[in-house]
Amino acid sequence: MAGYVLSLDQGTTSSRAILFGHDGTPRATAQHEFPQIFPRPGHVEHDPEAIWSSQLQSMEDVLRKADVATEDVAAIGITNQRETTVLWDRDTGKPVANAIVWQSRVSAPICNALNEGGYADLFREKTGLVIDAYFSGTKIKHLLDTINGLRERAAAGEILFGTIDSFLLWRLTNGNVHATDYSNASRTLLYNIHELDWDDELLQILDIPRAMLPEVQPSSGVFGETATEHFGRAIPIAGIAGDQQAATFGQACFSPGMVKNTYGTGCFVMMNTGDKPVPSQHGLLTTIGWGYNGEVTYCLEGAIFIAGAVVQWLRDGLQIVDSAPEVESLAQTVEDNGDVYFVPAFVGLGAPQWDAEARGTLIGITRGTERGHIARAAIEAMAYQTRDVVHAMEQDSGIQLAELQVDGGAAANNLLMQFQSDQLGVTVHRPVVRETTALGAAYLAGLAVDFWNDTSDVQNNWALDREFRPSGNNDRADILYERWQKAVERSKNWAE
Ligand code: ADP
Repeated sequence: MAGYVLSLDQGTTSSRAILFGHDGTPRATAQHEFPQIFPRPGHVEHDPEAIWSSQLQSMEDVLRKADVATEDVAAIGITNQRETTVLWDRDTGKPVANAIVWQSRVSAPICNALNEGGYADLFREKTGLVIDAYFSGTKIKHLLDTINGLRERAAAGEILFGTIDSFLLWRLTNGNVHATDYSNASRTLLYNIHELDWDDELLQILDIPRAMLPEVQPSSGVFGETATEHFGRAIPIAGIAGDQQAATFGQACFSPGMVKNTYGTGCFVMMNTGDKPVPSQHGLLTTIGWGYNGEVTYCLEGAIFIAGAVVQWLRDGLQIVDSAPEVESLAQTVEDNGDVYFVPAFVGLGAPQWDAEARGTLIGITRGTERGHIARAAIEAMAYQTRDVVHAMEQDSGIQLAELQVDGGAAANNLLMQFQSDQLGVTVHRPVVRETTALGAAYLAGLAVDFWNDTSDVQNNWALDREFRPSGNNDRADILYERWQKAVERSKNWAE
């Protein structure tokens, strides 16, 4: 039996490939960055050819590095930067334009018009999303509106749409398969998450031809096989999921109410809500987690724009630390935050406040304030923001948080993890394998080809690095949190 599953983690700044063994630990990793293209302020693009070549290179590199033969690879899983949109020519496989990246605001005018037209409730009911330039649908419309003759060609089936998973799948299968998975489809603003189908009414509103859309399949299952020219052998591509959903799967959050938080540049909190989509009254997104074993699992999602990025700013902007990990030792030079609060609303506030006009606010400074207080306030901000989102999730779902699984770069920060546990009043679990995104895609693929038997294998492989328990002083945690909420109010509406 083959010894490995190959996971392709196609992220916003780099393409990575990781080989995972049966025990769910990485055997080797390879990574290649690719250029970010900023044609105008707020517009972000990628060259799909650069994505493809960096991904292919990473795959070749990881196999060489690990000295693993393709015969020893049971399956390939793909996880990807979500929402990023590619249109390509069915005959030549060539992209018709640069990919429009999830961050790009290029389709904001389309979204404004839709919101003003009163479509928000319709889209939210059917897709679980808010009308925002973040999602793929209006990016597709923007390309169809601005490239001459493209809409007609798309209607004739000559032009195809895909998120990055779909584009990679097309290339890996040499144009044999045009498909995506439920989780990626649920980020397009075009997919009805209740009926599990592209929604004709929404397609009509956005004037997007159905003929250009990929077939949507469960996240775990064989999508196709790699064309032999790539690895000399046909390898099944058997798992696909968007990055945050893959991480939730990789964290073994299989029962309703389980939550993972990824502490990266921003924070992404996902709560498994089981087989039912839970509509949000508190500015969260309702989304599909994955399709596995004939069932669809839904999630509530809360995005925090600035988390680890606040530490980057302390390093590069304020220059009070030389490295990100140093923020922890600096924070330990003081006993507490000294009543200093740091609301990192650099680009406004996301869930649950949604205030685009909020701006970063450092408040409570006195003559006694030291660098350490600012470092501590920055660390605490990640935990308070997470509490804001978890609180919204509890209200929407009616489920009380029981524990939190964590990953991402800043989850290495022990002070943050302990503070998070105190703020939420639950135990925080940090796994040994922090590459949960790539791992989740590997599991989805490996489960489909019986490399792993069922989700209990995933649970058994999940190994604890360290857990953080609430220290029990709830009153103090609540007093701090009240002060935080007051600081958030002060940050709002600044850039109006
Ligand atoms: P991304 O995938 O978004 O690039 P990562 O998961 O690689 O992010 O995490 C990197 C982020 O985590 C950076 O913003 C960095 O400032 C932050 N970070 C890394 N180590 C620490 C640490 N020990 N304490 C606090 N923040 C950290």
